[in-house]
Amino acid sequence: MNMPEKPAIKTARKTRILEVLRSTRLTPSMQRVTLGGTDLSGFPLGQEGNYIKLMIPPAGTSMVNFRTALENGDKNAPRRTYTVRHHRPADNELDVDFVVHEGGGPACNWALAAQSGDCVGVGGPGPIKFPDHKAGWFLFGADMSALPAAAAALEDLPKNAVGHAVFEITCEDDIQEVNAPDGIEIHWLIHDHPHTSSTQQLDFFKALTWPDAAPGVFVAGEFTAVAGLRAYLLDEKGLDKRSIYVSSYWKIGLVEDEHRIAKNS
Ligand SMILES: Cc1cc2nc3c(=O)[nH]c(=O)nc-3n(C[C@H](O)[C@H](O)[C@H](O)COP(=O)(O)OP(=O)(O)OC[C@H]3O[C@@H](n4cnc5c(N)ncnc54)[C@H](O)[C@@H]3O)c2cc1C
Repeated sequence: MNMPEKPAIKTARKTRILEVLRSTRLTPSMQRVTLGGTDLSGFPLGQEGNYIKLMIPPAGTSMVNFRTALENGDKNAPRRTYTVRHHRPADNELDVDFVVHEGGGPACNWALAAQSGDCVGVGGPGPIKFPDHKAGWFLFGADMSALPAAAAALEDLPKNAVGHAVFEITCEDDIQEVNAPDGIEIHWLIHDHPHTSSTQQLDFFKALTWPDAAPGVFVAGEFTAVAGLRAYLLDEKGLDKRSIYVSSYWKIGLVEDEHRIAKNS
């Protein structure tokens, strides 16, 4: 089974400086920042679920000064990876959903403090792999960091798709609307201490009655949880690693740069 990148188009590499239009608390553990501004025009269409690289400016930096700093090669701004949740080109708006996590971090803190008129650097978008729509059924597992990407991938599935999506959230009020096909059963699991590792998704996968056909798989979230799910899917279920999307999005106790090193080692 081939894993298509979604969509198979060229991605832009220029850094845009986008403007915060509004920042709203979507659920207790998720802050939605809606971005716009002149640099958003020309952002490629159909990128929902794909990743972007945010460059976080020091608090109070004007758009002009941040643009100048980036153009002059200033690399001090922390870079963090996020997902295009929605793009409304007619309104020139882009939604990015940030997990509100314990201890914060440059991106989380920036989103919580973001006010209309603030700016942020945006690189990309870049593709992630979406499940092959020809799969017999679909299996999704995601924590809150991967909820935006998983939701976009679910919303992209054919209307007659069947399967299961497991979302691990911090509290019941973190349940949000996901416009998945009717045949996808969505299961919300509560894990109220995201800084301790969880096997809930793995337990769910193991308890599931698996149809004979190979599933289209989307799994992303915390490093250790994802490692357990990957081992199960490859070693016990015998799935071909080229045909599934299994990706670590963050790691307990590590900032993003450290996580990237752990992921690639
Ligand atoms: C392809 C891709 C797409 C992603 N899309 C999104 C997205 O749309 N929304 C989103 O919220 N995240 C997303 N992430 C994850 C995000 O990049 C990381 O969570 C990142 O570390 C957050 O940066 P920060 O500055 O807030 O925290 P950092 O400075 O990186 O970390 C500070 C501390 O917070 C902890 N931490 C980091 N993330 C979390 C978390 N989710 N829950 C609990 N503790 C955490 C770290 O372990 C560390 O101890 C994505 C990652 C990838 C690879």
